[in-house]
Amino acid sequence: MRKPLIIGNWKMNNSIAESSLLIEKLKKSLKAIAGVEIVIAPPFTSLFCLSAIIKGSDIKLAAQNIFWEDRGAYTGEVSPLMIVDLGCEYVIIGHSERREYFKESDEIVNKKVRSALRNKVKAVVCVGESIQEREEDKTMQVIESQLRRGLEGLTLNEVKELTIAYEPIWAIGTGRNAAPEQANIVHRYIRRLLTQLFNEEIASGIRILYGGSVKPSNSAELMSEKEIDGFLVGGASLEADSFTQIVMSACMV
Ligand code: PEP
Repeated sequence: MRKPLIIGNWKMNNSIAESSLLIEKLKKSLKAIAGVEIVIAPPFTSLFCLSAIIKGSDIKLAAQNIFWEDRGAYTGEVSPLMIVDLGCEYVIIGHSERREYFKESDEIVNKKVRSALRNKVKAVVCVGESIQEREEDKTMQVIESQLRRGLEGLTLNEVKELTIAYEPIWAIGTGRNAAPEQANIVHRYIRRLLTQLFNEEIASGIRILYGGSVKPSNSAELMSEKEIDGFLVGGASLEADSFTQIVMSACMV
């Protein structure tokens, strides 16, 4: 049985003061919730402050990105060692915004995934097709290529610490979510591919999250699908109420 996982990706939003206020609200509203793993990915600038505030709660932290080297002359980058130092248990890798705006290829995603896992940080690897790829019936082909290249060279022990986030690009920040059944088909395909790449036991333990316009009005229905193990939430994670409702829908499954 896979424990549901809900990750709130705040992207490039919230000052330190705003982050502190929001996490304080979440600490209260999520206090009584059990049976769901809850992770917040604030901007780097808020991680230090939030790691102090969440102490004693069940909320965990993720970074939104990392570089693949541990240290050195890489101006502006943040290493896996540094996010461990900040208290992060997770890191999001290969988000479609990074693939698009920062030209992150599957090879770069692979370097980052390997460096995260080498440093005992759990990697959340994002994959997903564009609207054009879906219309051309290339969804599975795109997902397969992203996963084969992105996960290349991982050991079985490393793979156990992996989470996959299926995020169709056309659903991110658009208000238009994938239909639950439509998402479930892709999730099932991903799990089959993980079985091929690794083995059945490993594949059945890996959580596959859905991301793309998840909100309180669609989360319960999405969560009721067998292969959806939780969510990567963008916009709706910026409000304590909506994020809390989404988390609650996951623990009622
Ligand atoms: C995301 O950024 O990963 C995301 C899914 O965003 P949104 O929920 O706003 O579509």
